[in-house]
Amino acid sequence: MQAFRDENVPIIERGEGFELIDIEGNRYIDGISSLWCNMHGHQVQEVDDAIREQLGKIAHTTMLGLSSPPAIQLAKALVDRAPAGLTKVFYSDSGSTAVEVAIKLAFQYHQQKTRGPEKRTTFLCMSNAYHGDTVGSVSVGGISLFHGIYGHLLFKTIQVPTPVALRTPDGYTREGYLEHCVAEMERLIREHHHEVAGFVIEPLVQGAAGIQIHPTGYLKRVRELTRQYDIPLIADEVAVGFGRTGTFFACEREEVAPDFLCLAKGISAGYLPLAATLTTDEIFSAFLGQPHEGRTFYHGHTYTGNPLACAAALASLELFEQQNLLEHIGKQTALIAEKLAPLAEHPHVGEIRQKGIMVGIELVGSREGMLAFPANARMGHQVTLEARKRGLIIRPLGDVIVLMPAPGMPLDLLGKVCDITVESIQAALELRA
Ligand SMILES: *Cc1c(COP(=O)(O)O)cnc(C)c1O
Repeated sequence: MQAFRDENVPIIERGEGFELIDIEGNRYIDGISSLWCNMHGHQVQEVDDAIREQLGKIAHTTMLGLSSPPAIQLAKALVDRAPAGLTKVFYSDSGSTAVEVAIKLAFQYHQQKTRGPEKRTTFLCMSNAYHGDTVGSVSVGGISLFHGIYGHLLFKTIQVPTPVALRTPDGYTREGYLEHCVAEMERLIREHHHEVAGFVIEPLVQGAAGIQIHPTGYLKRVRELTRQYDIPLIADEVAVGFGRTGTFFACEREEVAPDFLCLAKGISAGYLPLAATLTTDEIFSAFLGQPHEGRTFYHGHTYTGNPLACAAALASLELFEQQNLLEHIGKQTALIAEKLAPLAEHPHVGEIRQKGIMVGIELVGSREGMLAFPANARMGHQVTLEARKRGLIIRPLGDVIVLMPAPGMPLDLLGKVCDITVESIQAALELRA
């Protein structure tokens, strides 16, 4: 925690549009959509109004035994939007809980399924995955920096190697290593399906791993095999959902319908904590029965389905349609690629990874062998300090510079985000030289 004591952290007092304003009046462009969740900017009239209107009715009661109109309307809107077959919605309040809920549902489902109960006690998940910070979601995660110390607290999983290849193990070509990863995924499913309660994956892009992008067709292959071996597919779209990869949900790009869809971050326009876990009639039906049969899913967070958050989410979905944001995201995607292209040849840029408006620029000490900078150089952090001086807030993942603009950000402002990022990378590297 020492770094937090040693550094002057801006204290943000206001937000206007896509800018953050600190208590000293400094303005910064919000280049990471306030940690990947803001959708349309700050103080957005339509979202503010929807929350105020709901505030005039009730701020919160409970969804344990009751419901509320915004929660019901939002459930319907999410089901209408989601891949086919996802007809049931379970609310919670963060990405971690959305995943936690899916894991527990999948685990319980196999013990209660009408086709005959099975004891399936482990999960397949991706190496370097991030699904949240609660103990269950950490168990299906694989980022050693965040997760390593909790080893003894976690349940057992089977890790599938992430199919990415900036650095390949000895003896592999890039293509060869990617093929190896796909073959391993296939082998692990075939060997372990009888003990696996679910396959957990961030579709297309592993965000916290450093915006790591899976090869085209990977998700589809996972779906084919999990379907063949009757393994529920748990798609964690907490980061990739709501347009960020260029389709409304990332699963759509490979025409995949998962058995669970976990949503949070962008769901409420980045205004209030809200999450949803969607699932199928098939899974839901395993939880039906008389109370004494004990099929109930005993899980519910106090602020689950909060009406203010649901009202914000409904307003956000409406704005998304009205402003035709998917088309705008297409333009944002092209602009980012064009603006960052000159960096590709930079001797300290190992790789620029982009899927839609999710971007990771990986800095390296040397492109020869893709050697990292020494950790204590904190290169990623240095770049964000340079960016801050130039009026841009970004946050790195190690030495990966992340850009995650809001889907509603206008193109001229997004161009500025890219320009400042390029300048800041150059400035930080010059300081080091
Ligand atoms: C951020 C994130 C989470 C965790 O969400 P919280 O709301 O921070 O608990 C889970 N999965 C993915 C893919 C994420 O990016």
